[in-house]
Amino acid sequence: MSQRTKIDRIETFLLDLPTIRPHQLPMTTVRGQTLLIVRLHMSDGVVGIGEGTTIGGLAYGAESPEGMKLVIDTYMGPVLETADPDRVGDTMARMGKAVRDNRVAKCAIETALLDAFARRRGLPLSDLLGGRFHDRLPIAWALASGETAYDIAEAEELLERRRHNIFKLKIGHGEPKADIAHVAAIKRALGDRASVRVDVNQAWSEAVAARAIPALEDAGCDLVEQPIALSNRAGMARLAAASRIAIMADEVVQGPETAFDLAANAVADAFAVKIMQSGGIYAAGRVAAIADAAGIGLYGGTMLEGAVGTIASAHLFSKPAASRVGHRAVRPAANHREDPRRAARLQRVQPRRAYRSGARHRARRGAARPFPARPGRAQRPHRQQAHSRTLTCSSCEMYADCRGVTPLCRHPLVDYQDDH
Ligand SMILES: [Mg+2]
Repeated sequence: MSQRTKIDRIETFLLDLPTIRPHQLPMTTVRGQTLLIVRLHMSDGVVGIGEGTTIGGLAYGAESPEGMKLVIDTYMGPVLETADPDRVGDTMARMGKAVRDNRVAKCAIETALLDAFARRRGLPLSDLLGGRFHDRLPIAWALASGETAYDIAEAEELLERRRHNIFKLKIGHGEPKADIAHVAAIKRALGDRASVRVDVNQAWSEAVAARAIPALEDAGCDLVEQPIALSNRAGMARLAAASRIAIMADEVVQGPETAFDLAANAVADAFAVKIMQSGGIYAAGRVAAIADAAGIGLYGGTMLEGAVGTIASAHLFSKPAASRVGHRAVRPAANHREDPRRAARLQRVQPRRAYRSGARHRARRGAARPFPARPGRAQRPHRQQAHSRTLTCSSCEMYADCRGVTPLCRHPLVDYQDDH
């Protein structure tokens, strides 16, 4: 059966989604995400779905959604047309020879191939990866509004709802002193009720990081993620050796080869494992295995993906080696049911200008969605607007894309509730 199966059609499109609030990184502020969605239509009727998503566009990394679509349509398509979709590893090896780098685009294709592979066998992908070790994982929440009071209110609301007690603060946008004061104020407000970590996204020099990391430790911060440029691996190793709190590598972890080099040179205490950044689910699993063998902590990271990419990541993170530190997920607004109490609590905090603008927009429209889509983007050719339909399991709150991604949990899909 498998030898006769072919990929009949490769469908790619871009999907624009607003985020639930601005997500401030040192290099840019994310107000919406553009997902590249891939559908591989097989000759036996099976359709595999994959996603390629980057955070912050070209300000963060070398790939953009528009570029990935072009690469898949023009250069990866011919490889897939002659591929045996049941030989995923062989297909991706051939892809690696035909197309260098482009890890996020490769992740989208591999996810779609694995999705089809799992559907054809009627099994969750996690079973094909060796079986789930975890049914649930602690999930860190990123606080990245850029406003201390807003972040504290958001954290308090999530603590009250018992949703999260691990918070990652995005810093590096402002002066280091102001960033440290921001972290200290949030940790002081939350106390022992929550773990506070920071992600600097490469914004500091080694000299600044060497001064700032002890101050962050004094402020109660538990971990510092990618404090300096990804090119300065020796500097990261010096910081990790000197620091009493964990130093985590993120942007620099770009697949198994870099993971091996980082582990061999003691560059970090923990790795952020991301399927997009690693070049796919299998590659991310190899990154996790290298870290595991080296005694390096693991954090399952995401890139603000939509449901497809998040669930694909969760299948991998359910394996024991990939889930020591926990993973984060900042869901796009379309996946998030707005809680009126949350909205009221956040409204009491003086928001920044961009948020006030969004609030006025909502007030005029009477809409519950926190942020409008970027004007004009959804109207571009080859883009589709979000339909905002997401399914959430009524038993365990796992969610799945309405277009039928294999549910992560064990509960039947009929138990999933339409979120929107
Ligand atoms: Mg990071």
